[in-house]
Amino acid sequence: MNKAKRKAIIAGNWKMNKTATEAAALIGELVPSVKGAGCEVVICTPFTSLCKAVELCRGTNIHVGAENVHFEKSGAFTGEISAGMLVDLGVEYVIVGHSERRQYFAETDETVNKRAKAALAAGLKVIVCVGVTEELVRMQTKIALQGVSAEEMQRVVIAYEPVWAIGTGRTATSEQAQEVCAAIRKVVGELYGQAVAEATTVQYGGSMNAANADELLEKPDVDGGLIGGASLKADAFGAIVAAASK
Ligand code: PEP
Repeated sequence: MNKAKRKAIIAGNWKMNKTATEAAALIGELVPSVKGAGCEVVICTPFTSLCKAVELCRGTNIHVGAENVHFEKSGAFTGEISAGMLVDLGVEYVIVGHSERRQYFAETDETVNKRAKAALAAGLKVIVCVGVTEELVRMQTKIALQGVSAEEMQRVVIAYEPVWAIGTGRTATSEQAQEVCAAIRKVVGELYGQAVAEATTVQYGGSMNAANADELLEKPDVDGGLIGGASLKADAFGAIVAAASK
């Protein structure tokens, strides 16, 4: 597999952190810290900060994403946000299927698939999160991608996030991350063929930080990271971006 054939992407998942005012301050620190990065840089913020983030990241190398999206286009879904609404704001990416959504908000493989398809149909780029055991990861990947075309795969990123590593300070070893990221790429290959598999970005997520990023990111099938805690500090996030830029 040739790593040069795909983009390394470092994406921050801010979760339910930062008011819009605080987000503006963090983005002010992030812009100089990731300027000139040799990888794609994404920040996924709460809905309330998206407007501000899009405005402040315009003309920089930071791309803005949301943390969730509803699968219907509009209607009686109180509290939900559609893909079209995100596109209209200038949002480019969206995370779907994060393990916290699966655990606390009854997200299922089927709704992850519906959200991914709705987001892709609206023109968004999608970061699909899968986790747990290698066997489950294979199944979650297959279900999430049902009905997604090979052409749409150009806008799909898959993030392997072992649930036990998220927000715990426990990281998968680089060998474990490599093994499962390679297994995900194999599934993509089975579904879409070798060329699509080689072009698809597969991230690792789970307590990635400035100290362990180098080792994880140098693995051949680990094309970047989805970063929670460390994405809330400009210096830590900047260091991970620098590691992915080597
Ligand atoms: C995440 O929320 O996707 C994540 C990987 O969190 P953390 O980096 O804090 O483990």
